[in-house]
Amino acid sequence: MTTDKDIIIIGGGTAGLSAAQYGARANLKTLLLEQMAPGGLTLIISDLENYPGFPEPIQGFELAQKFSDQAEKFGAEIETDTVTAIEKHENYFTVSTTKETYTCYAVILATGAEHRKLGVPGEEEFSGKGISYCATCDGPLFKGKKMLVVGGGDAACDEAMFLSKLSDNITLIHRRDRFRAQPSLAKRVMENDHIFVRFNHELKEIKGDSQVRSAVLYDNKEEKTYEEEFDVVFIFIGSIPQTELVPDAEKDEIGYVITDHCMRSSIPGLYAVGDVRNTPFRQIVVGAGDGAIASHCASQYIDELKGESYE
Ligand code: NAP
Repeated sequence: MTTDKDIIIIGGGTAGLSAAQYGARANLKTLLLEQMAPGGLTLIISDLENYPGFPEPIQGFELAQKFSDQAEKFGAEIETDTVTAIEKHENYFTVSTTKETYTCYAVILATGAEHRKLGVPGEEEFSGKGISYCATCDGPLFKGKKMLVVGGGDAACDEAMFLSKLSDNITLIHRRDRFRAQPSLAKRVMENDHIFVRFNHELKEIKGDSQVRSAVLYDNKEEKTYEEEFDVVFIFIGSIPQTELVPDAEKDEIGYVITDHCMRSSIPGLYAVGDVRNTPFRQIVVGAGDGAIASHCASQYIDELKGESYE
């Protein structure tokens, strides 16, 4: 049997786009399926200052476009479509989308991770009305306003730094007594005159009318609950891996797909790259590296398969 494609990549973030480039460059029939614009979470990064080769900060949107152009230049096809199912047969996969059904020898899962929600009262009600998970997208709408940022990782610190260019009144709360973020980033946040950090604080409720007006906060050290006015709440408390398409792939305790050094999952021919896999460091540069490795190893896997007869 001959398949429609050699490799199908699901997800067009930078990990998927890198896999597409390397797959196409290895002369494999490479299709990338992405339900939105290529770029993934990179699209919403304003000033990306740690991608190697760019000594001056580059806009995430611009970098994503370069990744996409380069993949297409080497012959990768990029389609806007939503994948609904992946089925593994003996030596090939069927990938179903809302428009087509494709066959391929290898699948690279690059579906990333979604923003985690806090699950407090008011969060759903005021989503889009003063509650946001993207500072670059929504920050400018609240220029000069009083902002609350929740979280203690790189994302919360990065986004608070971005927001500090728009307002001089940003409160950053974190549930523990220290940041999880990289120390250099945490230091910059602590030294920023526009950001007021409150450790040992939790967001318990968001209140408002047609939009957010206040937040109920809990000081877990002093065991005190109080309400304070805010115009907008930004929530950055991590992410949830998007693995619904691969229920049978082995996952870690949080739900990330477990891979080996070749990005191979527990299912032969299925690879996982970027934020959806159990990587110790979720960065664009890491995702780009994952994509290159996965396509390289998938290429070897396909060469071996092509030496055999298929069902
Ligand atoms: P993260 O590193 O998992 O941090 C999530 C933060 O949210 C933690 O501080 C955590 O608290 C807190 N949190 C989780 N659940 C919570 C809850 N229910 N209530 C209150 N707080 C909660 O996630 P992230 O910051 O989104 O980063 C994700 C990945 O992207 C990381 O690997 C990160 O390195 C990477 N990233 C890198 C950059 C950069 O390099 N510039 C920028 C953005 C993201 P605890 O500390 O108590 O667990």
